Amino acid sequence: MSLLAVAHLSKSFGGVRAVHDVSFELEAGEILALIGPNGAGKSTCFNLLCGQLHPDAGSVFFEGRDLVGLDARRIWRCGISRTFQVGAAFGSLTVLENVQLALLSGERKLFHMNRPLAGRQREAALGLLEQVGMAAQASRTCGLLAYGDVKRVELALALAQGPRLLLMDEPTAGMAPGERIALMDLMRSLVGSLGLSVLFTEHNMDAVFAYADRLLVLARGELIAAGDVDSVRRDARVQEVYFGSGRTFAAPAPGASGGGRR
Ligand code: ADP
Ligand code: MG
Repeated sequence: MSLLAVAHLSKSFGGVRAVHDVSFELEAGEILALIGPNGAGKSTCFNLLCGQLHPDAGSVFFEGRDLVGLDARRIWRCGISRTFQVGAAFGSLTVLENVQLALLSGERKLFHMNRPLAGRQREAALGLLEQVGMAAQASRTCGLLAYGDVKRVELALALAQGPRLLLMDEPTAGMAPGERIALMDLMRSLVGSLGLSVLFTEHNMDAVFAYADRLLVLARGELIAAGDVDSVRRDARVQEVYFGSGRTFAAPAPGASGGGRR
């Protein structure tokens, strides 16, 4: 059984078919990239999977459980977590406090916010920060962190609930190349160490080619190709729809991505 099985997923906004009849599966331990031009329906697809939006039609099964109709919080509790494109960490709190809050929120104890955080979930929070390489900066205020470090904290927040599937919508947007490679390397090492699966959207083709086990290509809401990097890169329809005629996927320069395939 696949970890995630999506079938005939559809969502329209007025007359716009943002996602139309999309079907795919994702296996445990897999890193799957969702690519496509602007407006292709990538973010809508994400929002359908994590409950921010409800589909007009189709089914989403996660670990055999039907998610359609569940709200975002329920889906999060089922084991699907997401990072956000825009920094979501509380800027005025420390790195450690942010992660403590994420852990407490999973325990349904956020209602007692008037109590000081103190030592609650401190060890678990430090453990998560260790995993994302941010333990040394635990007592720093989030608002003062470098952008790449904010992204690491966001990753720790997304991992707080012990998800089996992590959704990342353009995780490296706005990052310098060095930060980008570091974040994607971290993502891949977490997939290995935690047994996670990842579905990510990305504009940066180096990141897609270097880190994805498999690609899904959306265009105008429809899935036009799926497969490994090489087969998708050669796909004539992908070349046509994704880049317009005349342009092709260039093979990434050796070492350009920093990571290399597994
Ligand atoms: P992508 O993330 O691939 O750039 P989106 O999923 O954001 O694409 O958008 C897909 C299509 O759906 C676009 O035509 C977009 O304008 C439209 N769309 C997305 N969200 C909404 C919304 N909340 N209301 C109306 N139209 C939307
Ligand atoms: Mg988007």
